[in-house]
This record gives sequence, C-alpha cells and structure tokens, in this order.
Amino acid sequence: MISVDGTLVSAGEGGVYGERMIGGHRVWDPYRSKLSALWYLDKSTDLSSDAVVLYLGAANGTTVSHVADYAEVVYAVEFAPRPMQDLLMVARKRKNIVPIFADATQPQRYAPLLEAADIIYQDVAQPNQAGIAIKHLPFLKRGGVLILMLKTRSVDIRKSPEEVFANTCEELSRAGLLVRKSLWLSPYHADHAAIVCERL
Ligand code: SAM
Repeated sequence: MISVDGTLVSAGEGGVYGERMIGGHRVWDPYRSKLSALWYLDKSTDLSSDAVVLYLGAANGTTVSHVADYAEVVYAVEFAPRPMQDLLMVARKRKNIVPIFADATQPQRYAPLLEAADIIYQDVAQPNQAGIAIKHLPFLKRGGVLILMLKTRSVDIRKSPEEVFANTCEELSRAGLLVRKSLWLSPYHADHAAIVCERL
C-alpha cells in the first residue's frame, strides 16, 4: 500500500466521501477504516493490484472504495438496505466493484456471482463472526488471506475482549486456517482486533 510522508493514501480519481486529498491521492483515515488502522499498526499489510477481494460487510462503501483503488476487483456484500444505496452509488463510479445485496450468513445464495478470492476481508460486527468467515473459505484460494476485523463486544458481551479474541483465533485455526497475525486495533478502534489468516 502507498503512503505520502507516512500518511496512507489510495490512488483513486477524486474523493468519494469527502476525504482529504494529498497530491491527487485519497487519504485513507485509520479512525474511519479498520483496514487502514491495520496498516498503521503493521506495515506489512498489503493489497496487490491483481488481487480478487471478497469483502463481507461493505456498509456504505468507504473502505470498499479504497480497497478498489488497489485491487483488481472487489465483490462487496452488504445486507442492510440503507448503506447498500450508498454502496451502489460508489460502485456506479467504478468498474471494479461488484455490489451484492445479500446476507453473508448465506453465501450459497450469491456463490454463482463470485470467483475464487485472493483475499477475504470481513467486517460484519455480528455474534458469529468466525462462523461467517469459515463459511466463505471455499471461495478463498489456497495460499489466500482472510482478514477478519473482530468486534469483540458483538460476539459475547459477558466475556472479556481478550477471551473472545483468543476463542476466535482458536475457532479459525480449528477450521484449518493458519493465524499469521492477530492484533488489537487500538488506539484507532476500541474493542476491535484484526486477525490475519492464511488458507493452507
Ligand atoms: N467495513 C465497513 C467500512 O469499513 O466502511 C464498515 C462495516 S460495519 C462495521 C458492518 C457492516 O456489516 C454493516 O453495514 C452491516 O449492515 C453489515 N453486516 C452485518 N451482518 C451482515 C451480514 N450477515 N451480511 C451482510 N452484511 C452484514
């Protein structure tokens, strides 16, 4: 990913949601996007220009738009009608975003629209976050990467964030993934962790 004087940017044409521009590049704010936060905390995070990305929990397309500045194609799944409207506006201006209005707990419904992904990025803030990711493993290439943004409070409010984090890593490992990195996203996002896994 590219930075200008230490600020993460992406190289899309024009702003999408009122973000700052530096030298014609779009500033990718770590407080607005967990993927940007991950880059600030771990500079080895990367997105290649030929990557096929399956994005679960696209919301209004803020992060999707930055990912699309880097990747070849982004399949963006969202199930809430209001953010979907914004996502459609973002997708209309790009050639490489495929918006999918669907529930990510039921991937069989949109499987025919997908191709094998190099990266699955998930940010759904639901109780069964590991389960949703695991359901999508058949769409991830061998050697592909799953980046799961875990909102611990959405999983189980009675358990400590640390316990939820550890349990989620264990569940992903049991599903056959190799957990390469796991880190908290503080100070950018409270009670959120990033778990980066490889499909062997
Ligand atoms: N990734 C977005 C970004 O950085 O701009 C923010 C995502 S927001 C935290 C979580 C989104 O996931 C919400 O828009 C919500 O509607 C969506 N979501 C939650 N559960 C979902 C599901 N089962 N299927 C599809 N989308 C889901």
